[in-house]
Amino acid sequence: SKLRVGLLFGGRSGEHEVSIISARAIANALSAEENSHKYEILPFYIQKDGVWQAGKVAQEVLISGVARENPAVTPNLWQFPPQAAEIELWFPILHGPNGEDGTIQGLLTLMQVPFVGSGVLGSASGMDKIGMKTAFAQAGLPQVKYKALTRAQVWSNPCVFPKLCDEIEAKLGYPCFVKPANLGSSVGIAKVRSRQELEAALDNAATYDRRIIVEAGVIAREVECAVLGNDNPKVSVIGEITFESDFYDYETKYTQGKADLLIPAPLPEAVVQQIQEMALKAFAAIDAAGLARVDFFYVEATGEILINEINTLPGFTSTSMYPQLWANSGISFPELVDQLIQLAIERK
Ligand code: ATP
Ligand code: MG
Ligand code: MG
Ligand code: MG
Repeated sequence: SKLRVGLLFGGRSGEHEVSIISARAIANALSAEENSHKYEILPFYIQKDGVWQAGKVAQEVLISGVARENPAVTPNLWQFPPQAAEIELWFPILHGPNGEDGTIQGLLTLMQVPFVGSGVLGSASGMDKIGMKTAFAQAGLPQVKYKALTRAQVWSNPCVFPKLCDEIEAKLGYPCFVKPANLGSSVGIAKVRSRQELEAALDNAATYDRRIIVEAGVIAREVECAVLGNDNPKVSVIGEITFESDFYDYETKYTQGKADLLIPAPLPEAVVQQIQEMALKAFAAIDAAGLARVDFFYVEATGEILINEINTLPGFTSTSMYPQLWANSGISFPELVDQLIQLAIERK
């Protein structure tokens, strides 16, 4: 009989829309000829207000690719669709907070049903850029200089805030990048070049997250590596992202034609190997499992490779970097989702 797979998507996150498109691509791959005899897919849609929907509503969102705009008025978050009890394996493809960050992973762990991807620790450390950087530093991975802040500091009294900005300027200089610590798709991120921009960006980042990070800006090529596996994971070829915009912001990521993926990236073999080794170290450093996409800065002038971040549930649309990297490494999209399910079973 077929394994009943719960495809969990949407979510209370700024990356809700991307998640729907990722889920659609995965549903297609699970329905492909090589997988359809093995898996039965049941879609579970988490609305923007956190309410779970299964059955017809979830199916409609999945097929249309459009988020449900008028969620229920009185959400009862502890009422799960009855179909949830039938699920034998969960495939969460939620990006960002409340999905990629260990929250859902904790719930699924309590359900005692295997699920695709990292567990609580790997997900949480991969989402929080401050925790992530601490783990990377401990693993000896080179990265940009940064300063960690809290919302309370940013919104502190007007005598403290200027000192904070002075410290940032002294330590990191301009341009620097202000980021909410727990987000993705560049939501809430700003590249700042002046005190005025810094102040505004900190204030804005604080509206997204209690935790904020400011990083020194680097001029570098942006390259990414995919990791697949559990205790002995494998790495893909390297991909590069090129674009005209100031940085790889939300608009550049999701507007057709604004960014190009170059796979494999034109890099010396020694650089490729170094990036792949660093990707594996990063995967282990945060205790990731199943899958992750590791993002790097390659400073061509000096040959320096800096790790930027890890994403434990990377974009998974048909044109996303993660599946494209595997396609170029000899693993097709349907094969990839099959392997991810097998890896989840292995970890059970
Ligand atoms: P993702 O969608 O990959 O999860 P994210 O929201 O976690 O992205 P980052 O990858 O940290 O965000 O940053 C987004 C983009 O901002 C990078 O791809 C890069 O273009 C730019 N950027 C971020 N930090 C720096 C930096 N320190 N120096 C130069 N550019 C940076
Ligand atoms: Mg990220
Ligand atoms: Mg992300
Ligand atoms: Mg990134």
